[in-house]
Amino acid sequence: MKVRQLLIVIAALALCACDKHGTDPVIPDVSSDAVFSFFKEINAVPRPSLHEEKMREYLTSFAQARGLRCQDAGGNIIIYKDATSGMEQVPTVVLQTHMDMVCVAAEGYSIDFLTTGIEQETVGGYIQSKGNKTSLGADNGIGVAIVLAILDSKEVRHGPLECLFTWNEESGMSGAAALEPGILKGKYMLNIDSEEDGYLLVGTAGSVSVNAGWMYTPEVAPTGYAPFQLRVSGLAGGHSGVKINDGGANANKLIADFLAEERIAYRLVSFDGGSVANAITTQATSVVLVPIDEISNFTQDFDNFMAVAKARHQDVDLDMSCEAHNILGTISCIPDDAAACLIEGLSKSPQGVIEWSAVVEGIFELSNNIGIVVTEEDNWYVREMPRGFNMPGLERVASDIAGAFPGAEITMTDRFAPWSPDINGSLITYARDVYDGMHTQPIGLFIVGGGVEASMFSVTYPDMQIICYGPTILDAHTIMERVEISTVENVWKYTLHLLGEMSKLK
Ligand SMILES: [Zn+2]
Repeated sequence: MKVRQLLIVIAALALCACDKHGTDPVIPDVSSDAVFSFFKEINAVPRPSLHEEKMREYLTSFAQARGLRCQDAGGNIIIYKDATSGMEQVPTVVLQTHMDMVCVAAEGYSIDFLTTGIEQETVGGYIQSKGNKTSLGADNGIGVAIVLAILDSKEVRHGPLECLFTWNEESGMSGAAALEPGILKGKYMLNIDSEEDGYLLVGTAGSVSVNAGWMYTPEVAPTGYAPFQLRVSGLAGGHSGVKINDGGANANKLIADFLAEERIAYRLVSFDGGSVANAITTQATSVVLVPIDEISNFTQDFDNFMAVAKARHQDVDLDMSCEAHNILGTISCIPDDAAACLIEGLSKSPQGVIEWSAVVEGIFELSNNIGIVVTEEDNWYVREMPRGFNMPGLERVASDIAGAFPGAEITMTDRFAPWSPDINGSLITYARDVYDGMHTQPIGLFIVGGGVEASMFSVTYPDMQIICYGPTILDAHTIMERVEISTVENVWKYTLHLLGEMSKLK
């Protein structure tokens, strides 16, 4: 490494005059001070998701004060900057970040996030909110600050820039969804909203919500049956786009599989588990009516079934608890056809990883999570969220799930397309080369199961190549949120090289 740098430095003197011929351009070592001062400035601007008006004003006056062209595109702000001299021929680059932040406060700390900004302090190599009283807004304020420092600088070398600041990334990606095709001219997007330095996010899974429902008239509970409550709880759970790879159990699935296999003719009274579709269900409860003369067999079957499940998931779900106990009487139950459709549908639905990625080890290609099961007085409904890194596979899984509930009312909502990794694409190859040119360790590549804005841009701008990277942010969206200062430096320098060496990107 040293030798090569040395070579470049020597060559630099000679190169000043001749970098037009495609040899290694000289990247000026611009200080990152401006990044930190802009971050402080941004944090003084109140910007909770869906309340980005003050941030729009701030960005617009930032642009006007510097004579930069600026437009509002579907509520997003785009600031344009011309190429620095000698860089007019390199491709236009889109620098993309989001304006909003998740605002949370410590218990008992009162603050009006609509009118008051974030106070920050530096503690042990990290920037955090003062006294950890609020979230910090480094997600994504530090990315915004890096872009503003580039727009403000007279030293940073870059080609034509389109700097896109989106709104409401945190709760629905409304800004990304509102961006029309044809607005952006760049074919390369650098999203600076990832939270782990030294890694490139190169793909995300798509997802869809498959919803099934059934209306019924409750039936009077038959005599000769005793009501039993089945409960599974204490599972690890977690984000179904991430933790699904760990192979933990889902409480809805365990109870449904038990009831589907059970040979004793029970009647279903209720089944409830989970409140958000993108979380692996940690607990679920079902009430069933069991023929009185079969109670001990039934509870034995339950214990046997759950003992096998416990053994299967012992590495992940250490605190799994499974109980079946008698409860006080119930007056009604769910008609058999509605109950059968629910239980068979859930037991035929896949849970967890369906297929592993052939591209990245240890992550799913296709997965499903049975997020929500609810039974009410006169209906039941289910929300499942399959995810996939390829659309045909995702669609297949979604229609298989729908097919598992014959006779139920089916809808499919909240569709996010997968952003399929193209690790041989010119932008990723370039980004890896540039990083390797600056570090001893190669940059890591990762894909995530959750959705990011890039997955929306890849639909509206199918020819756009996108990478996501960013400084290390810990505990985002919490009062413990903090950003590692040294990694901000790294990302700043990396961005200067990505922009400055652009003549190499073909
Ligand atoms: Zn973010």
